[in-house]
Amino acid sequence: MTELINAFQMAQRQFDHVAEQLNLDPQIAEVLRWPSREFKFSIPVRMDDGSIRLFFGYRVQHCDVRGPGKGGIRFHPSETMDTVRALAMWMTWKTAVADIPLGGGKGGVPVDPATLTTGEKERLCRGWIQQIWRNIGPRQDVPAPDVGTTPQMMGWMMDEYSKLVGKYTPGAVTGKPVGGGGSLGRTEATGYGVIYTVREAMQHLKLDPTKSLAAVQGFGNVAQHAAIGFTELLGGKVICVSYWDRADRASYTVSRAEGIDPRFLKSITDQYGTIDKDQAQKAGYVIEDADAWIAKDVDVLIPAALEGQVNAETVKKVSDRVRLIAEGANGPTTPEADEFFKANNIFVIPDFLCNAGGVTVSYFEGVQNDMNYYWTREEALQRLDTKMTQAFKSVLEMSEGEKVFMRDAAYMVAIKRVVTAMELRGWI
Ligand code: NAD
Repeated sequence: MTELINAFQMAQRQFDHVAEQLNLDPQIAEVLRWPSREFKFSIPVRMDDGSIRLFFGYRVQHCDVRGPGKGGIRFHPSETMDTVRALAMWMTWKTAVADIPLGGGKGGVPVDPATLTTGEKERLCRGWIQQIWRNIGPRQDVPAPDVGTTPQMMGWMMDEYSKLVGKYTPGAVTGKPVGGGGSLGRTEATGYGVIYTVREAMQHLKLDPTKSLAAVQGFGNVAQHAAIGFTELLGGKVICVSYWDRADRASYTVSRAEGIDPRFLKSITDQYGTIDKDQAQKAGYVIEDADAWIAKDVDVLIPAALEGQVNAETVKKVSDRVRLIAEGANGPTTPEADEFFKANNIFVIPDFLCNAGGVTVSYFEGVQNDMNYYWTREEALQRLDTKMTQAFKSVLEMSEGEKVFMRDAAYMVAIKRVVTAMELRGWI
């Protein structure tokens, strides 16, 4: 029977495996296995009907040796301290592999934001900041959007932070709306970053994108822009996406054999990534079951929904044609599925490399906030491409040099950079 482990245990196991390969001193490994700081707090919110509802908030700061903590805030019903811990740890490796001078943090609130009114969401966001503002900030830890949170919410959070500290502090939160301190290019940054690494991997694998097919899981911020990028930047075809339907409380795959039109699908998708499946069907799309996306006869699979989706069960459905897995989501692949990919020589672009585009442009946003001077979209995306390409190349070089799987190579690059910073600061 497959052992069920939670996301944090999975993150620790991945780290332990590489720490052993790197012969990392067990005392240093022990420091990096655990978050530096964790916060859990309650947030009483006045609801529109006058009642008070209590929410819980989390913030975990895994490691800030390379710079202030950095990482999103999730509003999702299944958020727990352990998912936040795992995500915070992955952020440490992500900022290190992308080589941006930041550390790892993450936050969350177990809630379905779609059940709240705009006013309730604003009060929840402001309440989250009121409880944690002393422990975050541009030189401490900088939150950003993630699953279930939006640029508008980041705008409210930045505003609340600025009010509490008594001065306009745009760099306290990133992923803000453009015109409200945000960076151009941030919305598409994660999805496009996925595609920049896909482009490099396909070149390495000698796959022609214009003759390639992809299947995507999810259709939120990351998946939408990955699908747009795969078709528009690389000239490939995406034949399906999947999503979680809030009304039906079920996931579906939305497919079209001749290739989907991601911009059309985006136009019939709500802000939480739920596609209007009736409209899709009217436009000739086929609605299939939740796991249909992973069984498609494609060259590239892009899991861009939630963690643990590619697991011992679902991986059995992966077609022989698949050559590349681009992990748009955080932690989409369990260790059992990883073993399958290794055994079948399927190239994996690991999550914290593949989806580092968002945090990279978040970093650019902080830089622009500090300068109080803003770049064009082209400038931001060009710099993103340079960073993602450099990151991909350094991981590929490690993978080939050490003859290790790409995930292990990404960990090696990241852990080495973190440990070097620990040495340089005299922590070890
Ligand atoms: P989102 O909330 O915008 O979208 C999530 C999508 O996944 C939605 O379409 C939802 O319907 C779908 N989904 C949820 N559960 C599903 C299931 N069981 N089966 C199929 N589809 C399902 O979130 P996002 O910002 O696109 O984030 C997606 C993933 O990427 C997460 O793992 C997140 O941590 C990661 N990530 C996001 C960013 C970013 O900048 N937004 C950056 C790095 C990593």
